[in-house]
Amino acid sequence: MIDEKFSRRQLLQGALVGLAAVPAATLIARSASAEELLSESDAAAMSFGYVGDANKVIAKANPTYKPGQTCANCFQFKSKAGAADGTCAIFAGKLVKAKGWCKVWVPQSAAKPG
Ligand code: SF4
Repeated sequence: MIDEKFSRRQLLQGALVGLAAVPAATLIARSASAEELLSESDAAAMSFGYVGDANKVIAKANPTYKPGQTCANCFQFKSKAGAADGTCAIFAGKLVKAKGWCKVWVPQSAAKPG
């Protein structure tokens, strides 16, 4: 009987440790996915016409595109100065290339009050 109680205690402790480990594993997984570069073939990327190199934008298909527009000078882009990639408010959890572009491009000046 004592052995049985001990086993239950061990089982319960093991379960609690396991439950505590789940949120930690989830955080690690989220952190890792935030490091992933957005793929041009990602469904959301395709719907917004994202390309990793703005020089490859097909002007006919994207009449709003103007040469010089890149993620690096878009209002939605956040990164360290000079970084090759950064985060984008549109594609949460992914990194976009600083030289990329998509149809949601908004000038950084949009953030400044009028
Ligand atoms: S919203 Fe801006 S920063 Fe985000 S992918 Fe499009 S152009 Fe790049």
